[in-house]
Amino acid sequence: MRSSSTPPGAWRALRDALDGTVLVAGDEGYESARPLFNGRFAHLRPAAVAYPEHAADVAACLDLARRHGLPVALRSGGHSYAGWSSGTGRLVVDVGRMAGVRVDGDTAVVGAGARLGTVYDLLARQGVTVPAGTCPTVGIAGLTLGGGHGVMSRAYGLTCDNLVGATLVAADGREVVCDAERDPELFWALRGGGGNLFGVVTDLRFRTHPAGRTVSADLTWPWRDARRVLARWQEWTLSLPDHVWSALRLVSASDGPTVAATVFSLDDRDELERLVDRLPGGTRGADVREEPHADAMRRLGGDQDGESGPAAPHHYDVRSQFLPDLLSPAGVDAVVGAVGAAGPGIEAVVALVALGGATNRVGRDRTAFVHRDSRFLVQHEAYWTPGAASSAPASASAPSSGVPPERAAGDWLERVHAALRPHASGEAYQNVPDPRLRDWARAYYGDAVPRLRRVKSRLDPDRMFSHPHTI
Ligand SMILES: Cc1cc2nc3c(=O)[nH]c(=O)nc-3n(C[C@H](O)[C@H](O)[C@H](O)COP(=O)(O)OP(=O)(O)OC[C@H]3O[C@@H](n4cnc5c(N)ncnc54)[C@H](O)[C@@H]3O)c2cc1C
Repeated sequence: MRSSSTPPGAWRALRDALDGTVLVAGDEGYESARPLFNGRFAHLRPAAVAYPEHAADVAACLDLARRHGLPVALRSGGHSYAGWSSGTGRLVVDVGRMAGVRVDGDTAVVGAGARLGTVYDLLARQGVTVPAGTCPTVGIAGLTLGGGHGVMSRAYGLTCDNLVGATLVAADGREVVCDAERDPELFWALRGGGGNLFGVVTDLRFRTHPAGRTVSADLTWPWRDARRVLARWQEWTLSLPDHVWSALRLVSASDGPTVAATVFSLDDRDELERLVDRLPGGTRGADVREEPHADAMRRLGGDQDGESGPAAPHHYDVRSQFLPDLLSPAGVDAVVGAVGAAGPGIEAVVALVALGGATNRVGRDRTAFVHRDSRFLVQHEAYWTPGAASSAPASASAPSSGVPPERAAGDWLERVHAALRPHASGEAYQNVPDPRLRDWARAYYGDAVPRLRRVKSRLDPDRMFSHPHTI
């Protein structure tokens, strides 16, 4: 979409037309409306940030954008790893005021702007839940549209697998409802196609599951055991029942690297302890807790992410890969070597998430989330404090002295990604948009690309909804 400057009168007219709000530079509240979750994108200055209250407000925002050739960006929780829910000169349509959560029979109707923490808490009051991710401030729309894995996905599938219908406002302002009967192609595409693609999703309807008691265990090992633990943990995940989930994190830290696992179960403590006893060290060093589902989700989400956002913005850069099989000893060496050699100035993480179970029982062509035969999702994450520079290299290949942390992070991500390439499928998680990927469409969507393109050109022929990785 061509970009132009929007006359002040157009903003005044939009403000009068909306039940919601629109903020332009200079308005009180504009500066605090701008930031995304990742402080790396703090420089972005949208033309305006609109907070529609309902579908008609959304249509009015899109109408203004169309008439003035203004590019739009859609925002739910604002956690896009690439910063694509904002953009300098764009009209940000933030669905945060459309965040209602209600139970309707065996489904939950969730406003597109609801954050995961709120979804878990409100649904738990009625004894139910929806399988979703861990971070409480992630938005339900962004998460679901790209897939959505979490501690219940081996038991009940991804968040998108539990979607039974959705409503969106299309580029021409029409409200479109889709489900298995109404526009099933759009419904297919919304389950993994990614955000900001077909229209502004306003609400999502999910199948619910009981939110019972849960039991989980946190384990840590000394770094000298990292190779043995990674090799054993991978094998061990193959024997897990579907109601048990686990992730392993290898983390570089200023006081030395660590390796830690979380194990989460929807069944009882005895079974979990028996399973954990098959890992090195077993339950001896494990912190095992039984707690109601919503408490577990709150604890797993950490306390750094209050609904109002973190006290200090996080700065991070992340890439993803899928592993079709267990890592060979060379792959294990690559992971442990990369974390061990991460330079100072960044915290480097390789996180492996066990897939399988219900996630992998869905056929590759049943939804637009195609990564169904992968055993593990691997995320490479680099965190830093802005302004700090890495002072000394940790190895010959580590960043050299004085390298700004953002570059050190990028270099480390490049190295770890390259080291794992021979062991990975070549696919990438569309909820971890990665501007460095060359064949990004194939990496996110595999054979689903032509089918997604057909839905895109039908719903959004003029490509009102676009970002650098729009199919
Ligand atoms: C701290 C953290 C923890 C995470 N944990 C998990 C996890 O446990 N599991 C997991 O699967 N993923 C996880 N993710 C990845 C997460 O799923 C993606 O970043 C997701 O896209 C974020 O959604 P959002 O709504 O918060 O972000 P946003 O930045 O608001 O949106 C993401 C994308 O969706 C688009 N979009 C937003 N709202 C709409 C709408 N209403 N209609 C159409 N398009 C829209 C945006 O334009 C953007 O392209 C995590 C990310 C972070 C930063």
